[in-house]
Amino acid sequence: MAKVRTVIHLECEVCKSRNYSKRVSKKRAFGKLLVKKYCKKCYKHNEHKETK
Ligand SMILES: [Zn+2]
Repeated sequence: MAKVRTVIHLECEVCKSRNYSKRVSKKRAFGKLLVKKYCKKCYKHNEHKETK
């Protein structure tokens, strides 16, 4: 059976723009993980939240 992958997006907590996407295993618990990433709109590092 093929690996089941799903795509999630990382959304900036400040401006709500979706700057990143990544593939994760569908079996992984979908947590509202916060990751610190650079936001092109805010021109700085902000917390990014996992979203679909
Ligand atoms: Zn932002």
